[in-house]
Amino acid sequence: MSTPKVAIVGRPNVGKSTLFNLLTETRDAVVKDRPGVTRDIQIGKGEIWGKPFELFDTGGVTDQKEFFSEQIKKQVNEVIHRMDLLLVVMDGKFGLCPEDRDILRMVKESGKDFILIVNKIDSSINEEMAKSEFYEFGEEIYATSFEQRNGLGELFEQMHLLLGDNEDVDIKDKKGVSLAIVGKPNVGKSSLFNFLLGENRVLVSDIAGTTVDSIDSELNFEGKKYILTDTAGLRRTAKRTDDVEVISAFKSRDAIDRSDVVLLLIDGTLGPSEQDAKILSYVLEKHKGFLLVVNKTDLGEKDIPEFRKTVRAKLSQDFHFYHDLPICFISAKTGQGVQKMFSMVDEIWRKLHFKVPTSQLNDFFSQVIRQAPAPVHGTKNVKFYYLTQTNQTPPSFIAFANFPQSVDNAYRRFLAKKIQERWDLKGIPIRIFAMKSRGRS
Ligand code: GDP
Repeated sequence: MSTPKVAIVGRPNVGKSTLFNLLTETRDAVVKDRPGVTRDIQIGKGEIWGKPFELFDTGGVTDQKEFFSEQIKKQVNEVIHRMDLLLVVMDGKFGLCPEDRDILRMVKESGKDFILIVNKIDSSINEEMAKSEFYEFGEEIYATSFEQRNGLGELFEQMHLLLGDNEDVDIKDKKGVSLAIVGKPNVGKSSLFNFLLGENRVLVSDIAGTTVDSIDSELNFEGKKYILTDTAGLRRTAKRTDDVEVISAFKSRDAIDRSDVVLLLIDGTLGPSEQDAKILSYVLEKHKGFLLVVNKTDLGEKDIPEFRKTVRAKLSQDFHFYHDLPICFISAKTGQGVQKMFSMVDEIWRKLHFKVPTSQLNDFFSQVIRQAPAPVHGTKNVKFYYLTQTNQTPPSFIAFANFPQSVDNAYRRFLAKKIQERWDLKGIPIRIFAMKSRGRS
């Protein structure tokens, strides 16, 4: 499916350009508090909770008198017919105009999905009074103040719903899962890279440090395609001399930013370091898939009693902030465990793109919110209405509530944990957002 098209329609000066800017986060459209300043059709790119769309502002009128001339009507009509969703904006401060009736009639005749928005319902205005005039349409009304950012949660929610599901593009089949191999110098990143590429002529040395230049490498492993991001530093050559650049862990940022799953390598004989903890927090901040790869298992198993158990205990202690840390043990030298590592990567990738069936989600939500005291807002309990999954990766959820600002981090963690348990998403950094909703009947 191509990107859905959304158009903003309405008479001049109702706030179309402000909405355009809000949704596209650009300053492309001209906004002036004077009728008829929007000219031509503005086109921008927007996104709501992971659903992208193309946005059209049908302004196109300079003189209010001219607004519903046949010619302009024709122009707007043509645009409308190419759209998937229409945002019809009216002015709640000014009140209902005869043109509004014409516009709505045209919109309804098009048979397209639409949302009726009554804007400029600022906090100084009585919302019910302002809306009441528009009830003659018999439509559900979304009261907003684009300027004061009021009512946007409900509007976005409805847009998200009407934009529907884009067919899932299987990125993995198309370009492969992107992997970043990161870690401190000398943990065996280049050795792993070389093992994977089977290039024994590339020399691996035990001198700390690499050079940095952005180069990605493609890799086929057991018939599947993977992209290794930013592998410049991993491509060691014999030419490397003493002026080895000692890089900070954060030179790996670019590789992490461009990857789906981060493989953080540690030297199993030495254990993790503070730098590893820093990399891990960056990975968490970026909501990437993550796998902790304990390398040099061949040495470890020779020298350290109960090697795996010992390392696991140390890791869960040092990285206690990461629940259900996914760990694998490999030897880049012998290739031991590498196959298992890839099957874990595939599993993580699958879970990163997991979509919870909507029917299951709200049954689950109503049970879960009974299991813990609701967060409080002043003297009131926060009331939850329902939960929606967005199109984002990793799986992200929006909890609609009456006081979203009081849904604190502890409560979000509680919800995330319950979701992880219910759908076997342990170790996947899922996200919880809270949005305002007045509830649904
Ligand atoms: P990098 O700086 O992270 O790229 O680390 P290198 O790949 O250069 O490896 C550092 C040193 O550790 C080299 O001497 C490698 O031969 C050695 N090494 C890497 N992986 C293993 C492993 O799995 N087992 C053993 N025994 N040595 C390893």
